[in-house]
Amino acid sequence: MRVVVTGGAGFLGSHLCQRLLENGSEVLCLDNFVTGSADNVAHLMAHPGFRLVHCDVTNFVHVPGKVDLVLHFASPASPVDYLKLPIDTLKVGAVGTWHALGLAKEKGARLVLASTSEVYGDPQVHPQPEDYWGHVNPIGPRGVYDEGKRYGEALVTAYRTSEGVDAGIVRIFNTYGPRMRPYDGRAIPTFIRQALLNQPLTVAGDGSQTRSVCYVDDLVTGVVAFAESGHPGPVNIGNPQEMSVLRIAEDVLAATRSDSEIKLVDLPTDDPKVRRPDTTLARRLLGWEPVVPWEQGLAHTVEWFRGVELEAG
Ligand code: NAD
Repeated sequence: MRVVVTGGAGFLGSHLCQRLLENGSEVLCLDNFVTGSADNVAHLMAHPGFRLVHCDVTNFVHVPGKVDLVLHFASPASPVDYLKLPIDTLKVGAVGTWHALGLAKEKGARLVLASTSEVYGDPQVHPQPEDYWGHVNPIGPRGVYDEGKRYGEALVTAYRTSEGVDAGIVRIFNTYGPRMRPYDGRAIPTFIRQALLNQPLTVAGDGSQTRSVCYVDDLVTGVVAFAESGHPGPVNIGNPQEMSVLRIAEDVLAATRSDSEIKLVDLPTDDPKVRRPDTTLARRLLGWEPVVPWEQGLAHTVEWFRGVELEAG
């Protein structure tokens, strides 16, 4: 198998590249490093099956030779990033997905689009099954990400139905683990950084809003199983164990043995109040379910963050 991973130098992409190499695939990682870094794949550079190419997938994407699978993961993904990069986020969701699909069509390859639970917006159906259409504000600040992904899903579907491309959609729910950036603004890396620096943990609202978080190894297993399945999706991949944001903060305090306090701050605009995947389809179709317990995944992640420079913003 020769696999192209767009956004392969990011958090999820770097773990995917690693797993694909372990499985015996050759991996071509395309990234413009807008939110990722070559450091994330530095440990893979010596592998004979790995190549990293600096490339913006919103420009023309040309890959010589055969390609069996395209995993399109390029996109800013945290609110801090996509609020800073609104046009780039829309462009990579639209033009980037279009180019990734063009590559898959040219090579006769399967394509998997990394979509997101954010297509469900602030959901009015709970937990969220794949046939729920969502509740998204297109002109709110988060619209650039949510609507970019929704457009990408429509594009994947059009290429599948009108161009015969073997393309599929995974809807990824909040995932955490090593190689997240301490200042990417997502709750878990933010809480861990604050706890390790003995700063107050900033919990939005009253902390009763929920999230369901999946350890990165489980996520990668689910994505690889979906890629191999040939299924069009969309399929939710995430951990259905739902926790309040306040509980996540308290667990981070316990895991880091920190004396930091919890400080309540304003809720961001359009922040989803609940979030939990219905994973019935993933279980039935892929035989997949997450296996890493929250306490264990959190402990690994804290361990990794202890080795990272936390002070620079
Ligand atoms: P990330 O920011 O760590 O990784 C994204 C990567 O894409 C970065 O390396 C970035 O440099 C690259 N990139 C962005 N625009 C590009 C472009 N135009 N050309 C080439 N490369 C580009 O984010 P992540 O958390 O690893 O997310 C990866 C994918 O998974 C994204 O598509 C995201 O929407 C999706 N996703 C992630 C989560 C999560 O919890 N981490 C949840 C849902 C969906």
